[in-house]
Amino acid sequence: MKKLDYERPIINKVNAGMPDKFGMSTRVPVISHIEGVAITDIMKQFGSPIYVISEPCIRETFQQAQKAFLSRYPRVQFAWSYKTNYLNAVCKIFHSEGAWAEVVSGFEYTKAIENGIPGNQIIFNGPDKSREDLERAIKDGAMIHLDSLDEFYYLGELAHKLDKKANVGLRINLDAGIYPKWDRFGFNLENGEAWNVLNRVMLHEYMVLLGLHTHMGTYITSVNAYAVATRKMADLTNRLFRKYKYELKYLDLGGGFASKNTLKGAYLPGSDTCPSFDDYAEAITSVLLDSELPPERLPLLILESGRALVDDSGFMLGSVLANKRLADGRRATVIDIGVNMLFTSFWYDHEVLPTQLKSEQTENTTIYGPLCMNIDVIREAVQFPLLQRGDAVVIPRIGAYNMTQWMQFIKLRPPVLLIDTDKQIHLIRKKETNEQFNAMENVPEHLKG
Ligand SMILES: *Cc1c(COP(=O)(O)O)cnc(C)c1O
Repeated sequence: MKKLDYERPIINKVNAGMPDKFGMSTRVPVISHIEGVAITDIMKQFGSPIYVISEPCIRETFQQAQKAFLSRYPRVQFAWSYKTNYLNAVCKIFHSEGAWAEVVSGFEYTKAIENGIPGNQIIFNGPDKSREDLERAIKDGAMIHLDSLDEFYYLGELAHKLDKKANVGLRINLDAGIYPKWDRFGFNLENGEAWNVLNRVMLHEYMVLLGLHTHMGTYITSVNAYAVATRKMADLTNRLFRKYKYELKYLDLGGGFASKNTLKGAYLPGSDTCPSFDDYAEAITSVLLDSELPPERLPLLILESGRALVDDSGFMLGSVLANKRLADGRRATVIDIGVNMLFTSFWYDHEVLPTQLKSEQTENTTIYGPLCMNIDVIREAVQFPLLQRGDAVVIPRIGAYNMTQWMQFIKLRPPVLLIDTDKQIHLIRKKETNEQFNAMENVPEHLKG
């Protein structure tokens, strides 16, 4: 006969279902299925831990965002931020919905080309573009967003040598009233640098200025910041027209929309407090429509939203390894998902949920990962159900940045599954193998044997 699970006796006021002092529900939600597929079935087949991505969720979210903007402004183009999640299957979903590619390295650029995106639909951002990267981008006609004066001069030289004009955009940083103010990327607006470099680009024999770009930060919850930034970009566009009678092709407002995750230390959950796509779209497009830009000169509005488009589609499945008592008597639950697989647990209070509820009983618990490191904490303190070794846990909203910032540390990276719109499961990234890691290493002769 199976030994019954033991839990130490505790006395608790029965408060199941009652709101807490913030008015939030105290009942632990359960996620048993993803897009209609039972999590227990997935884990039986593919093991633990494992990433799961929902294709229907990506498509719905993208279409919502697109609709929010297109219903307010005639010319909108999204460019998928590769670094947010560059699994090819994920990129292909965004591209099939019409998104261009936004890349920040030669590695990502190659991926975009291999995913079938033509150069003139690739936006090339970032401070590190090598000679080969820039030459390829010039030849492909990609939108090269200048980050520094050094890059401006270097690009000019290369374009001259190739005798081909480079398509250029200018990354601009500006004060939109938010903190922290990112001023390390691109050229500052308020101190006149952006205008100065714009003039240099305009007069350059081997550059064609196509657009202006700003990416102010990430997880920006102030829609007003977007209104301020858009106004400043629109003014700059008009100033260019006044001086050169030159019409910019596009304004690129970058990414930065918040996802529904809850930042550490936040008072209320992100799902209740973060602006919607409609809120952001209203702020940005109102400014453009109300600006001095005449209808025939309205630029294409480009958006490089990353986390807000993909976070909700990602789930991490794992299992409980052990329960223990810390020295002060607090409950600790160790799961097989560590911060190496869940980089965003440094910023977010991720929800960790059971796949089934055995009782309504919960206890204040610290949730640790499996790494032999003190920093491996998934949740510092959370009212958590009394799960046992082997029970499954689900961490929703992990689609952004985790499958790119993951670290190979003491364990191989887990596989990634995609559930498509017909509930079919596809393995879109295999579990890594020891052979792959050893293949990249070399032991010198004298250490062999
Ligand atoms: C990372 C990045 C994005 C995406 O940012 P999110 O905050 O995830 O929307 C867009 N543009 C640039 C230049 C980036 O570096």
